[in-house]
Amino acid sequence: MTVTVRFAPSPTGRLHAGNIRTALVNYLFAQRLGGDFILRLDDTDQERSTDAFARAIEKDLSWLGIEWTKVVQQSDRFALYAAAVEKLKELGCLYPAYETPEELDLKRKRQLGRGRPPVYDRAALKLSDAEKAAFEADGRKPHWRFKLEPVDVVWEDLVRGSQHVDAASLSDPVLIRGDGTYLYTLPSVVDDVDLGVTHIIRGEDHVANTAPQLQLFQALSATPPAFGHHNLLVGPEGQALSKRDASLAIEGFREEGLEALSVASYAATIGTSDPVVPHVSLDELVQGFEFSKLSRAPARFDPRDLRLLNAKLLHMLPFAAVADRLKAMGVGGGEAFWDVVRGNLEVLGDAKLWWCVIEGPLVPVIESQDLCLAAAKLLPPEPWNEETWPAWSSAVKAETGAKGKALFQPLRLALTGEQHGPELKALLPLIGRERAHARLEGKPA
Ligand code: GLU
Repeated sequence: MTVTVRFAPSPTGRLHAGNIRTALVNYLFAQRLGGDFILRLDDTDQERSTDAFARAIEKDLSWLGIEWTKVVQQSDRFALYAAAVEKLKELGCLYPAYETPEELDLKRKRQLGRGRPPVYDRAALKLSDAEKAAFEADGRKPHWRFKLEPVDVVWEDLVRGSQHVDAASLSDPVLIRGDGTYLYTLPSVVDDVDLGVTHIIRGEDHVANTAPQLQLFQALSATPPAFGHHNLLVGPEGQALSKRDASLAIEGFREEGLEALSVASYAATIGTSDPVVPHVSLDELVQGFEFSKLSRAPARFDPRDLRLLNAKLLHMLPFAAVADRLKAMGVGGGEAFWDVVRGNLEVLGDAKLWWCVIEGPLVPVIESQDLCLAAAKLLPPEPWNEETWPAWSSAVKAETGAKGKALFQPLRLALTGEQHGPELKALLPLIGRERAHARLEGKPA
């Protein structure tokens, strides 16, 4: 069987950490089996959906390295939904209901007051044609409910295992609102049928939609796909993720300069039995993907951990993986430079700082003028290598009597202007004699 999955965000906002976990689980699974990944933009809510959000979603996915086989948008597909509505009406499983939101609310309160579950009582099914006509004459527009079969609905969830729901305990879902707009339930199923989706993989927050949707697949004479509901992400304090929390937007991670691969590695491995470690390619994540590794408990998404993972990833990335971006940032020095500084980076942009330290000009920080001037005089002639620093610093120690931190810290500050950084034995040959000499004399170089 060819696998086809879909990732179906609504273009009513930017992608955030929770969305991309869903996108990644779909993508990794499809890639693992050589299947198709469809990007479906759920934009039936035409008031809140915008083209700008749709393009931004595409941009965020592309940045993460997620490629789609095709993209569809629900607003282009209303004719399909209308045809399905006609079919459901013919079958007698879609019925008009005229209650106002206030009336429904009152019913629910009464049921709860009597200790009963607030399930829709199907009063609308008992309306006579004359009663319906009276409502219409009164200006009421019906909303349309799907009549559920009162049976046990069972499915083998790819993540949660065997599931069953007694459909008699559910309210008949509203598929079409009084103003004629669709709720998500029907268009989703119609598209899943039409696009040949074989696996619906989404967050646990959609588990309650599955039983009604399975009955919709049946009513539309379609073979239902497999379903998998992955665990949700929670914030650092265990709180539910909010779409409005800008600190979890993918755009923000990109702008902060985090690596797409560290975002993907983090979002794909938290809440799994795999270690949360950086992966140097999406393919590595693909090879390790198994539904059985997903935990049932919520996974904690902490941007601080993501940043640590980003640093770890940079520390292990080979020069080839970053060469183009370094060049675009105006950072030279090639592989030799990269190997010296990568261990000190939190984000790739930090490489610029170290490139400025090497290229100059920088204003040296002179903590001990005598020591620095003596050190300048002792600088050996070039060529320099990793042996230069130990030999030279020993000579400075012998000459000045300074040792330990009192020796190394003034030299580091004069040579780099920084308190901390890559090993001086590696930096020194890159800085070179001319600049080192000037800086030790307190001159900008
Ligand atoms: N548009 C829905 C959402 O973003 C899709 C749910 C589904 O995958 O079926 O939650």
